[in-house]
Amino acid sequence: MQRLQTRPIKVGNLIMGGNNHVYIQSMTTTFTKDIESTVKQIHQLEKAGCEIVRVAVLDKVDAAALGEIKRQIHIPLVADIHFDYKLALEAINQGVDKIRLNPGNIQDRSKVALVVEACKAKNIPIRIGVNSGSLPDGLEPTAENMIKVAKGHVEILESLNFYDIALSLKATDMNLMIETYRLAAKTFPYPLHLGVTEAGTAFSGAIKSAMGIGILLHEGIGNTIRVSLTDNPEIEIRAAKEILKNLNLRNDIPNLISCPTCGRIQYDMIDIAKRIETYLQGVNKHINVAIMGCKVNGPGEAKHADIGVAGGKGEAVIFKHGQIVKKIKESEVYDTLVKMIDEF
Ligand code: SF4
Repeated sequence: MQRLQTRPIKVGNLIMGGNNHVYIQSMTTTFTKDIESTVKQIHQLEKAGCEIVRVAVLDKVDAAALGEIKRQIHIPLVADIHFDYKLALEAINQGVDKIRLNPGNIQDRSKVALVVEACKAKNIPIRIGVNSGSLPDGLEPTAENMIKVAKGHVEILESLNFYDIALSLKATDMNLMIETYRLAAKTFPYPLHLGVTEAGTAFSGAIKSAMGIGILLHEGIGNTIRVSLTDNPEIEIRAAKEILKNLNLRNDIPNLISCPTCGRIQYDMIDIAKRIETYLQGVNKHINVAIMGCKVNGPGEAKHADIGVAGGKGEAVIFKHGQIVKKIKESEVYDTLVKMIDEF
C-alpha cells in the first residue's frame, strides 16, 4: 500500500513519516509523578507492542519525573503539555523525545520561541493536537474549522523556522475525523497522528477506531496511530495491531483464523481459540494460525493458514497449509500448537 509522502521527523530512535512504517502509540493512565507505576505500565505497553508512549504532564512534579521515566524505558517518550511553556522547557530538559503542545495556546510568542529553540537544540519534534471538542472561540466542529485552527498553530512554528512537526486532528465523530484528516493530508506536509478521540469502551471504541483509522490508512494517510479506549491501554495496542495487520501494514504480527463454529463442531474449540489468541499476543512474527471446529471442512476452509487444528471427537488433526499432517488427542491441542508456533 502506497503511503502518502510527508516530511520525515525523528522521534527518539524512530523516523516518522516519509515512507516509514506506521507506528503504534498509546498513553499511560497512571499519574506521571508516580514513577514506579508509570514505568511499570510503560513496560507492559512495550511488551504488548507499543512503539511510542505519551504521558500527561500536569505540573512541575510530573515534569521532573520525566528523566527518570525515560531512563527506565526503551521506547520514545512524549510529554503531553497544555498551556505552560515552563513545563515544556522542563520536559525537554529532562530528555523527552517529543512534546505535544499547541503553540497558539501560549499567549506570549516570545515564550513559544524559547520552547522552539529548546526543541531545535535537542532535535525533538512538536505534535500539534487539535480536537473537535476543544476548538477555540466557540467554533463549530467542522473539518474546515479544525484545519483552520491547526494552521494557526503550524504557522507560529513555521514563522520560527521550525518544521519538525506532527499533527493530530482527532474528532469524536468518525466521519468528521475522516473528512478532517483527508483535508489535512492535502494541506500540510507533516506526518499525521491518527485517532478517533474519546472513542469509547473497548468493544465499540475499537470498532469505531478501526473504521476511522483503517479507512484513512487504506488511502495512504497516517504515520502513527492511537486507538483511544476507556480501558487498559494494552487493549489499545492490541486493537492498533489488528488494524495494521489487516491492512498489511505490518508483517511481524500473527494472524488467527478461527471458524464461527456450527452444528458440525466436535470439540471445545472456542476455549482453545481464545487461549491461542492470548498466546499469540506475545509472538512477533508473521504466522497464520487456524483453529477450526471440524475436520471435515476445517483444513480446506483454512488452507491459507501456516498451521492449524481441526477437531474430531476427543481428538484433533493438525494441518499445515491445508494438508493434514498428524492426529492428536484433544487434550494435547493447545501445547502442540504452542510448540509449532514457537518452532515456525
Ligand atoms: S469448520 Fe466445521 S465447525 Fe467450523 S464453521 Fe466450518 S463446518 Fe462448522
